[in-house]
Amino acid sequence: MSLEVRDIHVYYGDSYILQGMSLEVQEKEIVCLLGRNGAGKTTTLRSIMGYAPPRRGEIRFHGRVISGKPVHEIVRAGIGYVPEDRRIFAGLTVEENLEVAMLPARAGKRAWTPQRIFEEFPLLERLRKKRGGELSGGEQQLLAIARALMGNPVLLLLDEPCEGLAPVVVEFLGEIILGLKRDTPILLAEQNARFALSIADRGYVIEKGRVQCHGPVEKLREDKDIQQQCLAV
Ligand code: ATP
Repeated sequence: MSLEVRDIHVYYGDSYILQGMSLEVQEKEIVCLLGRNGAGKTTTLRSIMGYAPPRRGEIRFHGRVISGKPVHEIVRAGIGYVPEDRRIFAGLTVEENLEVAMLPARAGKRAWTPQRIFEEFPLLERLRKKRGGELSGGEQQLLAIARALMGNPVLLLLDEPCEGLAPVVVEFLGEIILGLKRDTPILLAEQNARFALSIADRGYVIEKGRVQCHGPVEKLREDKDIQQQCLAV
């Protein structure tokens, strides 16, 4: 088991946002979090990363409790996070964006280096001297994912990677995300349910900070309520 979120309750000030969220991510799988705007997808990812620690409940990563730990320890433990706004450094080149994110290798795993990123993602090699701020939305998203890989994560959290991107770019990123899951399981928060259900293995539908239903994507795709709620986007 990679990640276990057990009955977490998260507040922003007095606002009660996650009201008993639970989910699991196993090795070699992509798990998607679906739900309307404001359902609690981003908060779930931020809570796993330690930015919004739960008041109750527990988060375990490879069996060890990480809830309550500071963000930098969670990153070092092996969780890579690509936030919705990507947060790449606009003034640094592609190569520099990768270099500043480099963390030590993990035992038994081939380390990510800028060279390896350029081999696996030739598009970034062609852009290596360009500044982050000069890239298109899709290029920035690819760089944000590559930058998260530089921390040699053993789990990746992606928040709406396809937001605002053209369908052909979404398809391209989908292939890349699928290619990563052999090595690194992925928890993907998405409003674009059609996209998420096309690449994920399992999914959780969230409403008002709770899991409304979950299961293999084949089952979720057939569910009429989910189609109405999520696929109408
Ligand atoms: P979106 O697709 O819009 O990101 P989401 O499912 O990811 O939606 P969250 O961003 O997790 O939803 O938001 C869940 C709820 O928490 C919303 O009602 C939102 O208004 C509220 N919220 C989010 N961030 C904060 C904050 N910093 N302070 C107070 N309330 C917040």
